[in-house]
Amino acid sequence: MTDCIFCKIVAGDVPATKLYQDELVTAFRDINPLAPTHILIIPNVHLASANDLAPEHAAAAGRMLTLAPELARQEHIAESGYRLILNTGADGRQEVPHMHLHLLGGRRMQHPLG
Ligand code: 5GP
Ligand code: ZN
Repeated sequence: MTDCIFCKIVAGDVPATKLYQDELVTAFRDINPLAPTHILIIPNVHLASANDLAPEHAAAAGRMLTLAPELARQEHIAESGYRLILNTGADGRQEVPHMHLHLLGGRRMQHPLG
């Protein structure tokens, strides 16, 4: 996707503070952090949302999830805890149409979801 901001971050065409990148996924700091640690983990392939996940994306989806605790340990928030959020579609308040997993931590989250 040439006009997707997150595809451009994957390609290195838009700057971001990347923390990890491999052949499947990229992780970088959110530009507008809502917590002391706020990282976005995305598949390198353009998936507009979780609705586009298909069996062939299992490796990328699995890597996104297994990378989260690694990054949490790196950020020293594994023990204190963190929240993983995958906003999907309008009701999910997804704003960037390239699937992304938020990793938020370093403060106590509000209790209820929603
Ligand atoms: P959503 O609301 O779609 O779940 O979250 C999108 C997130 O992407 C927001 O937290 C927003 O701050 C972040 N974001 C949007 N544009 C950029 C960008 O160009 N660079 C980075 N690093 N984060 C971005
Ligand atoms: Zn994209």
